[in-house]
Amino acid sequence: MPPIAALRGMRDVLPAESTAWRWLLDTHRRVAEAHGYRSIDTPILEPTELFERGVGSGTDVVEKEMFTFVDRGGRSVTLRPEGTASVVRAVLTPRLDQELRPLRLHYQGPFFRNEKPQTGVQRQFTQVGIECIGERRPDLDAEVIETGWRFFEALGIGRVQLQVNSLGSVADRARYRDALVAYYEPLRDQLCDDCKRRLSTNPLRLLDCKRDRRFVADAPLIWDHLSGESRDYFTAVLARLEAAGIESVSNPRLVRGLDYYADTAFEFWHESLQGSQNALGGGGRYDGLAELLDLPPEPGIGYALGAERILIAARAEGVAPSPEAVCDAVAISVGEAAADAIAQVARELRRAGLRVIVDTTERRLDRKLRHTDRLGARAGVIIGDDELAAHSAVVRDLSRRSQQSVPRALLADAVLSLVGTAS
Ligand code: AMP
Repeated sequence: MPPIAALRGMRDVLPAESTAWRWLLDTHRRVAEAHGYRSIDTPILEPTELFERGVGSGTDVVEKEMFTFVDRGGRSVTLRPEGTASVVRAVLTPRLDQELRPLRLHYQGPFFRNEKPQTGVQRQFTQVGIECIGERRPDLDAEVIETGWRFFEALGIGRVQLQVNSLGSVADRARYRDALVAYYEPLRDQLCDDCKRRLSTNPLRLLDCKRDRRFVADAPLIWDHLSGESRDYFTAVLARLEAAGIESVSNPRLVRGLDYYADTAFEFWHESLQGSQNALGGGGRYDGLAELLDLPPEPGIGYALGAERILIAARAEGVAPSPEAVCDAVAISVGEAAADAIAQVARELRRAGLRVIVDTTERRLDRKLRHTDRLGARAGVIIGDDELAAHSAVVRDLSRRSQQSVPRALLADAVLSLVGTAS
């Protein structure tokens, strides 16, 4: 029988990649928390209805991309394709309704979409995101965008381009939708199958088409359909961004894949990602979402960023950290008699904060040292019969290839100072 492989579009994150992953996720947590965002975790499996109503049944995500199945209780459930609907559901229940507004929340975790796997597109992928719920003010839109911007800055990814747009109010969008339909209807016969469908289900997504770009160029612009209020709101957001020193590109053709956005919409682009997959992430304002879920109406804005794509960008810019050494020290016994003593030494070193692997194998010492070197350890700590008798250990510096005998009582300090000088 062939070995069992991972499902298509689903990847293992192997230990060698874990340093870069931890760096990315920890940095996002740190930057989000520096802006006052608290962590929230919601379930990975949700009622299908949450996304049908929250994301919109006319969207590609809901129409074609969800992993949906009937559970043993006969209920339709879905592996979450995005995070915002769940977060809004979670916080607008009575549990948090006494808390100060706005609620600032951040999350990270796996999401699932049944897309065609390619570079930067997987069926299971990881998003980091924030949501700011309960108030509608241009400075909050700017705050959310700035948090994402500072995150990229903290990672050292420099070539990020911020694209912003206003999708207007619900009424503006309805007017714009009519204008798009009026423009595209006469072209119907020339449209791809997806766009024919979008024309009746979700005309805004016509601007996202990867095949019919030639029609997009002459399509009506949302800006010509914005109300005065939305226009002022957008101008205020842009002013706040400028004051924060954040460069943005206003792009009237930027639409987002999910239905619930209104007013501010934005994306972070990076040149290392090709064509339609060039967004590291994006977000926008979703003031109508809570109502779609039959929850008390509260405005909100947030973003979601794709960790896999950010790692591609980080590697392209050479800022992703290299894999860490597996451990700081290997504790090596020579001869059976020293096995318990070396295990005890390892415990002491771990208590001192070091990462230690024990080697009590019967291999020759030179082999054990070679193995220690390959693990990337800076120190070898060796106990044989002589050291047992003298209550000492040999500390070997693997990079300088020097060694010294150290009394057991001073061992932790000696290894710590050696590891601390690691280059
Ligand atoms: P969205 O929720 O569609 O706005 O996606 C936000 C970000 O999540 C995108 O810009 C990507 O970085 C990432 N993302 C979305 N879908 C996928 C996927 N299938 N594979 C990898 N990353 C994805």
